[in-house]
Amino acid sequence: MATIRTILTLVAMLAAGSAGAEVYVIRAGTLVDPARATVTHDQSILVDNGVIKAIGAALSAPPDAKVIDLSKEWVMPGLIDAHTHLTLTEVTGGNAPFESFYLKETTAFRAMRGLHNGEIVLNAGFTTIRDVGNAAEYAMMDVRRGIEAGWFRGPTIVTSGKIITPFGGQSNKIPSEQGAFWRYEYIDADSPEVIRKAVRTNIYYGADVIKMVLDNSPYHYSVDELRAAVDEAHHAGVPVAVHVYGGEAADNAIEAGVDSIEHGFYLTDAQLKKMKEKGIFLCSTDLPRTHLDIEGTSGGIFPDPPEILAPKIVDRLKRAYKMGVRLAFGSDTVVEMEGRTRADMMLDYLGVWRLAGVPAMDTLKDWTSEPAALLRVEKQRGRIAEGLQADLIAMPVDPLADTENLRRVNFVMKDGKVVRSP
Ligand SMILES: [Zn+2]
Repeated sequence: MATIRTILTLVAMLAAGSAGAEVYVIRAGTLVDPARATVTHDQSILVDNGVIKAIGAALSAPPDAKVIDLSKEWVMPGLIDAHTHLTLTEVTGGNAPFESFYLKETTAFRAMRGLHNGEIVLNAGFTTIRDVGNAAEYAMMDVRRGIEAGWFRGPTIVTSGKIITPFGGQSNKIPSEQGAFWRYEYIDADSPEVIRKAVRTNIYYGADVIKMVLDNSPYHYSVDELRAAVDEAHHAGVPVAVHVYGGEAADNAIEAGVDSIEHGFYLTDAQLKKMKEKGIFLCSTDLPRTHLDIEGTSGGIFPDPPEILAPKIVDRLKRAYKMGVRLAFGSDTVVEMEGRTRADMMLDYLGVWRLAGVPAMDTLKDWTSEPAALLRVEKQRGRIAEGLQADLIAMPVDPLADTENLRRVNFVMKDGKVVRSP
């Protein structure tokens, strides 16, 4: 009896699978390939069961295929944001302490915010994100699970688990009688052995990347401590991303061979040069001035006021680009603006990239295929190419003429499923 039931279940699963296996032919008026810096016209893209099977000018549609007419649109790979915190909204204004967001919200509520933001960013064209911590008690693992189960719409998620830091998380001057309450949100780890355990703990709970914060305190990790993290993570096939602004903490991270420097607002030319030599990405989180003005009121985790920091961010991106450091777009959007979505705010960073003089084609590459490489998903995502997952977006205006046109995305496909169409 059990056997018959098993067979019936299998038959039902197969039927459901084939019903979901949509075949599409997308007629692309203009196809932009940022990884190769090419533009082609009147191309067709065959998508079968989520995967891109063929691309060409003279592609005939199989009889069972649905045709998607984007012949008047610019088609390109889905966007990737390599530095998000989808479950976090910082409390701003007044004297709100930095810790407010995790002292007043449960993991369940945080997961709901993650799902809410996930749908918003996917609709805007971000088909993959890397979420780098601040997700309470591993909320992003459940956000990802809910999306992968098909219960909610959202991007492909690469995520870090809890942020590993030297004692103190990202808190400062908390009275000792309060205890280390930040451990709800961070793992304190203060020696190579404890760091190895923290890395293993995160990987055990589902982390695809290890996130560390290096320079929140006057003390910071040594090269030996960072090497322990890199060694442990790399042996498990997981990269290491470090929040660091500059200085000796950044020197140590570069020396230890981390995979990406997050922020790096104060990196010197010498540090950028070494990053280029070692192939270390800059995930640049180039906060626009308007965002810094708000975030600066949230308990102040930035070392400089907005009027000083904003031009430094532009200058650092300009230097990194000119020196040929590998760049991966990351937004780090964690505050709210009246009447605007999180995706609107993520796209504000395009303005900073233009101020830094990064040409449009390179910007598109650093918002698609380059972050795919950093996230180690480049064999599945980040380009429109045969054998990759069908993650693509389209808009009725040319993103190369003005990257601001990415705000007009009106078609999104993720894993071969249409999320929105014109
Ligand atoms: Zn961040």
